[in-house]
Amino acid sequence: MPQATPIKVVEPRQRALLVGVFVDGVTTKGEFEASLDELEALADTAGAVVIGRVVQKRREIDPTFYVGRGKAEQIAEECARNNIDIVIFDHELSPAQVRNLEQVVKRRVIDRTELILDIFAKRARTKQAKLQVELARLEYELPRLRHMWSHLSRTEGSPGVRGGPGEQQLELDRRRAYRRVAELQRQLSEINKRTEMRAKKRSEMFTVTLVGYTNVGKSTLMNALTKAGVYVEGRLFATLDATTRVLILKHGQKALLTDTIGFINKLPPQLIASFHATLAEVRHADLLLHVADLTHPRMEEQIKVVEQTLIDIGASGKPTIMVLNKADLLPPDVDRDALKRRFENACIVSALTGEGLEELKERVEAEYRKQRQIEIEAIFPLSCGWLIKWVYEHASVLSEEVSNGILRMSLLIEKPLAMKLSSMCNDGYNGVRLIIKDAS
Ligand code: GDP
Ligand code: MG
Repeated sequence: MPQATPIKVVEPRQRALLVGVFVDGVTTKGEFEASLDELEALADTAGAVVIGRVVQKRREIDPTFYVGRGKAEQIAEECARNNIDIVIFDHELSPAQVRNLEQVVKRRVIDRTELILDIFAKRARTKQAKLQVELARLEYELPRLRHMWSHLSRTEGSPGVRGGPGEQQLELDRRRAYRRVAELQRQLSEINKRTEMRAKKRSEMFTVTLVGYTNVGKSTLMNALTKAGVYVEGRLFATLDATTRVLILKHGQKALLTDTIGFINKLPPQLIASFHATLAEVRHADLLLHVADLTHPRMEEQIKVVEQTLIDIGASGKPTIMVLNKADLLPPDVDRDALKRRFENACIVSALTGEGLEELKERVEAEYRKQRQIEIEAIFPLSCGWLIKWVYEHASVLSEEVSNGILRMSLLIEKPLAMKLSSMCNDGYNGVRLIIKDAS
């Protein structure tokens, strides 16, 4: 019996034909072409071999075939001539459009959303990611189930009459799908509770989360900053699960650095909903590192997509450092200062060569200090041995000097610990003085 949700959409090495419709006034020519380039990268990531593209310029989309009928026939010819296995549209198709197109081109026809869902399905590793992807796919497939059984209705049952074998099968499948959705939601809510709890617990520590368009170098940067050994690949969505490592800053402060999934233009809403828990890492972060790829011709648009996605998932307005990556590929005549100014004090780095990473760490540390620490000038008589020991254990000593039995220190200390120190000093230590130098 056919599965209600086919597990794989694109088989390895399948020959793919891409189709894009350019509707004047809706997108610019540049955006249209960039989107097709990205579709090609996505198809490649899914394992297909892209053989060619068919584009059409229209004033509005065709309700029956999305493209015009003539174009649909041309696609059919193209498919036959080039042994195409699968046709991939760069647009969301209605179930009826898919059915009509498949009848004409005699090949499997999928849209961008299905392709992205397929990639996520193939890349999911943890139980949580797998359940999240299955749920997203079922929610995408549910309104499309009718189409899967329409051939039965046509050939074996009477069209339009309820109760034909196609209709019965459809009802069965639909009920099975709803049951599965409920089951997935139940399992996920259990796991998600744990994920949210973990993310909240971590929020006692300073958490830094990498965000950015897919393939900009987030995982490479994570590795460079923490030697984490996160899977890096020059393909889209190499990372589906959040990975967290400790990042030690200059004065010994410990932060948690988390690598997350990359964002992409037109990320299917079903996926954003299903990955809500994974994205908790982004919502609970104290600081975001927004990584962008300097060498990408459409870097600015990618940055906008990421900013919009952050709004969509409820994580906008957080302290953010813009990180412009892949500086090693930047031509030497590019004005770096101008770049930094244009992107609000961005850091220019190369995760590959290490260039700029020290400055980036300093910027992270500055943010850590601003949110969590204060700088104190402390004066202790050397007789306060116990107190001095406590200070060495709980604060970073920036400088110190001893004269006439007096120890003068410049300290960096967590705000709650500064309160504790202050109350300890008030408990009968003569000659101790604390002066707050910087309490931003
Ligand atoms: P992610 O999707 O954002 O996690 O990106 P990855 O870390 O997987 O990297 C995507 C591709 O960009 C890989 O081929 C990396 O080797 C490459 N890459 C990452 N950082 C740099 C860099 O600083 N310079 C250059 N030249 N390539 C980089
Ligand atoms: Mg990655």
